[in-house]
Amino acid sequence: MAETKIGVVGCGGRMGRALVGEIVAAGCRVAGGSEVPASPLLGQDVGELAGVGTLGLKVVADAATVFQASDVVLDFTLAAASTAHAKLAAETGRALVLGTTGLDRAQGDAVRAAAKHAPILWAANFSLGVNLLLSLVENAAQRLGEDYDIEVLEMHHRHKVDAPSGTALALGEAAAKGRAIELAARSQRVRDGHTGARKAGDIGFATLRGGDVAGEHSVIFAAAGERLELTHRATTRLVFARGAIHAARWVAGKPPGLYDMRNVLDLKR
Ligand code: NAD
Repeated sequence: MAETKIGVVGCGGRMGRALVGEIVAAGCRVAGGSEVPASPLLGQDVGELAGVGTLGLKVVADAATVFQASDVVLDFTLAAASTAHAKLAAETGRALVLGTTGLDRAQGDAVRAAAKHAPILWAANFSLGVNLLLSLVENAAQRLGEDYDIEVLEMHHRHKVDAPSGTALALGEAAAKGRAIELAARSQRVRDGHTGARKAGDIGFATLRGGDVAGEHSVIFAAAGERLELTHRATTRLVFARGAIHAARWVAGKPPGLYDMRNVLDLKR
C-alpha cells in the first residue's frame, strides 16, 4: 500500500511540530503544512521547523492546498480554526484527525455537520492510557454510588488556553455516563467564595496550570473513610502525536462519519 500522505494545519505549534516529526518517524509522507496568515513561519521549511531536516515543503497560509495534497489532515490548532478546517475536509472529502480542544457547542455542531461529508476522527486525547482511563472511570462510577464524590483534577503547561482540559471534560462525561446522569446538569466547574456544602452526586472539576506539564489527569472517588484515585500522567506530548498518526492511518479512506479513539483502539467500554 502506498505511504499515507499526511498534512498538518498549524504545523508551527507545539503539537504541529511534534506531529511532523512523528509522521517522518512513522515512515509516512508529510504532504504539507499551514499556519495563520500573519505567522512569521510562512515560507520556512516544514521539516526544518520540526527539527527533522529539510522536506522541501514551505509553510503556507492557504490550508485548502494542504487538504488537496493530503489523504488525511491533522488539526491541533484553535477552536475557530478547527471549524474552518472541518469545512475544508467536507468540501474536499479528505479525512481529518481533530485534536483541538475548547470547541463550544456551535463549533462542535459544525464539526458534526462536516462529518456527514468526510471521515473525521475527533478526540480530546490520543494516548492509549487516557482512552483506557475513560473506560475505567465509567466502570468505577457505575459501581460506586453517590456516597463517592467524584472530582476531576488536571494540570497542564502555562500556555494552555482552555479550561478545564478537553480530556478532563471527557473524563467527566465518562463518569456521568457510568452514573447515568447528564454532566451539564450536574457539573461543578468552578468554586470560589462561600460556595456552601458540596452537593451529593455533582461531578467537580479543578484546574492547575504551570511550567511545561504535558498533561496530568486524576479522577478521585472520595467517600467517608476511603478514596480511590485513578491517575494518568503524560510525560511528553509525543505520546499524543504518535496516537494521532496511528489514528490518521486508521481513518484515511474510511467512509464519511464521526469517529473517536474507541474505534481505533478497539477498547470496549
Ligand atoms: P499551540 O498554540 O502551540 O499551537 C497551535 C498552532 O495553531 C499555532 O502555531 C497557531 O498559529 C496555529 N493556528 C491557529 N489558527 C490557525 C489557522 N487558522 N490555520 C493554521 N494554523 C493555525 O498549541 P498546542 O499546545 O500545539 O495545542 C493545540 C491544540 O491541541 C489545543 O487545543 C490543545 O488543547 C490540543 N491538544 C490536544 C491533544 C490531544 O491528544 N487531543 C494533545 C495536546 C494538545
